[in-house]
Amino acid sequence: MSTSEHAILCGKCRQPVTARTESHDEEFGCRDCESWASKAEVFEIAKQYATDAAQIGFNRSVSSVARKSKLMTFKGKTSLTKDYRFILADML
Ligand SMILES: [Zn+2]
Repeated sequence: MSTSEHAILCGKCRQPVTARTESHDEEFGCRDCESWASKAEVFEIAKQYATDAAQIGFNRSVSSVARKSKLMTFKGKTSLTKDYRFILADML
C-alpha cells in the first residue's frame, strides 16, 4: 500500500504496511508488530505524520540557514516528538 509518492511503513519497525483479509474486514498494518487498523485509520495517521514531518523538514532547513547566519536565530522543533503507528517512507 502506498500514497502516490511515499510508501506507508510501520511506525515501530519500518516494515511496509501490508493488508490482511483473514478477518471479515480488510485491515492494514504490520505483521511483525501485530499492529492493525482500518484503511481510513492508517491513512489518517500517515497523513498526520506527513503534515508533521513536512513541518520538521521545513524547520530543519530554516534552522541550518539560521545556524550560518548572524542575523537570524531559529527556535523550533527539528525532530518529531510523537510516536506514529504508521509513517511515510523518505519524508525525513
Ligand atoms: Zn512493525
